[in-house]
Amino acid sequence: MHPNSTDTTQPSFSSLSLARPLLLAVRKLGFEQPTPVQQQAIPLALEHKDLLVSAETGSGKTAAFLLPTLHHLLTLPSRKFGTRSLILAPTRELAQQIFKQCQQLAEFTDLKAGIITGGDDFRLQQNMLRRNTEIVIATPGRLLELMEQETPNFSNLEVLILDEADRMLDMGFSEDVLTIAKSCNSQRQTLLFSATLTHFGVIKMADKVLQNHEIVALNTLHDGHKNIEQQIVVADDNDHKEKLLAWLLLNESYDKALVFTNSRIQADALRGPLRGQKLRVGVLHGEMDQKDRNRMMDLYREGEINIMIATDLAARGLDIKGINLVINFDVPRNGINYIHRIGRTGRVDELGLAIALVKSTEWNLMSGIERFLKQKFKRRTIKELEGKYNGPKKIKASGKAAGIKKKIEPKKVAKEKVKIRQRDKKNVGKRRAPTSQPPSGSQEQ
Ligand code: AMP
Repeated sequence: MHPNSTDTTQPSFSSLSLARPLLLAVRKLGFEQPTPVQQQAIPLALEHKDLLVSAETGSGKTAAFLLPTLHHLLTLPSRKFGTRSLILAPTRELAQQIFKQCQQLAEFTDLKAGIITGGDDFRLQQNMLRRNTEIVIATPGRLLELMEQETPNFSNLEVLILDEADRMLDMGFSEDVLTIAKSCNSQRQTLLFSATLTHFGVIKMADKVLQNHEIVALNTLHDGHKNIEQQIVVADDNDHKEKLLAWLLLNESYDKALVFTNSRIQADALRGPLRGQKLRVGVLHGEMDQKDRNRMMDLYREGEINIMIATDLAARGLDIKGINLVINFDVPRNGINYIHRIGRTGRVDELGLAIALVKSTEWNLMSGIERFLKQKFKRRTIKELEGKYNGPKKIKASGKAAGIKKKIEPKKVAKEKVKIRQRDKKNVGKRRAPTSQPPSGSQEQ
């Protein structure tokens, strides 16, 4: 929807429960209705959730993060010292646009915003930081320069926003952004906006800076993952999958392999059989204590073990060089999880291979993921271990398995049998002798 188009079926800004001065500013700017990204992101951000949002320039994304942030700053006043909200943007131009919109939306409040970008007066910017300005909008490079001189106080920061994160990463700001994020209060809320959610750098960054985040995915702009070969191997059942997994781990060439399961129990169950094949395997899941997890990670990083079986949660933040094979023992529950998993391989210039083991009950889930990514994965058969299941017999245009319709026989309606006794026939027309106990439901006449 274009920001200026009006649709009476859509919610209004007032239904988003924003503070009155913000609603006044929105009206003054002529925004009649929230855009889709605003409709979805604002209520979640108002609940103080961390968000990963896919939104492009022109979608109204700036107001989608500014409005809930301003609302937060207005309704939860703080007496603490330092910047309350920091917005990082890749370019000076974008930072200026955000700054302008921030001033417009904060017009009827006392909140103050400042801007820090390269090319402007260094000392003025230092002064602005010292003045306890509530909202700081900055490009990472210049902000870091200032931080090297004297630390701006982000220890009481309440909201950190990374706008156009994918562009920031493409411009080489990854380390700078992480250094800045590390200097911020760890209890803050973080909102990460990116044109695409499938950018490996964005996945990596989301893992590091967000906590229990929600995803708002509005567009389906996806990278091609050209450096990762993606394959599907169909399997009869979990036993068959186990054999396929062992075969792949014994026969593929890789430095480090990462095997994903959907459950901790499944992850544990795979360890024994694989070790039985003399494979150097470790397991990583959320039920393990931190000490054991760290030990596992060290063994894997140092190459003592070269195969890790992990659940999605445990693999968050796992950033280890040399992973060039990812095997999905279980098909992940959705496309975003799939991308997060395969994103562990094929980093930057490395080539990677991602293989999903798919049994019949997972076929539709897998085809949904292919549709989500607008990609068709390569079907592969392991000759030595060919099973009975070869994928669905018939496939719909959507890629899903076409169900085999059973012929439904019309039900025969059984005629109610009425038993006519011989003696009743004989008594037709005769009056029945009254009985002392009438049968239930019958009435004496
Ligand atoms: P952005 O995607 O944040 O760069 O915004 C694109 C343009 O849409 C900017 O000029 C905003 O001022 C404008 N805009 C943002 N939200 C709305 C809205 N709800 N209704 C109309 N225009 C909007």
